[in-house]
Amino acid sequence: MYLKRRLGKSLTTLRGLHFGYKKKRKSSHRYKVTVGIGGNIGDVKRRFEHLFNCLKKEKRVELLQTSLILKNPPFGFANQDDFFNSIIVLQISMQPMQFLGYLMRLEKRFARKRSFANAPRTLDLDIIFFDKRVVKSEKLTIPHASWSSRESVLIPLSELKQ
Ligand code: ADP
Ligand code: MG
Repeated sequence: MYLKRRLGKSLTTLRGLHFGYKKKRKSSHRYKVTVGIGGNIGDVKRRFEHLFNCLKKEKRVELLQTSLILKNPPFGFANQDDFFNSIIVLQISMQPMQFLGYLMRLEKRFARKRSFANAPRTLDLDIIFFDKRVVKSEKLTIPHASWSSRESVLIPLSELKQ
């Protein structure tokens, strides 16, 4: 069950049991990371709930917080279904490249296939922030290159509970 709120003609936010979540206790892991999640194929909300449960069970990460879910129109390649996006805040002890590998394995597990840029996807996991680090390599840019220009990141970020 989700509590829906319309933000505009094509934007809706959804709040549920696990999205709009905040943990009370502090974590023993070292780095705080902000992960953007998105998808637009099949039952994306259900997949997000499944991802939430996977992360909860994972010893190498501690789930601190999730934003609500934003339903929003696609960009780039417009002839595809609306996207669902959310933000997950974790505490981890992995280094950035190791964490990217971990996220890519998770995407695979959720049957993500890469076809073309901005194509429909089951689950996209992007590192938005990694503590206060700046990384600029061929495989990894942190903070995420387009976080500040995407509604799909900015709206969920702004709705994180303080
Ligand atoms: P996008 O998320 O832009 O739609 P992909 O998910 O297919 O595209 O990611 C393509 C590549 O982006 C990944 O293989 C990864 O190496 C690279 N990448 C660079 N910076 C980041 C980041 N901050 N988070 C996730 N992937 C990143
Ligand atoms: Mg990605």
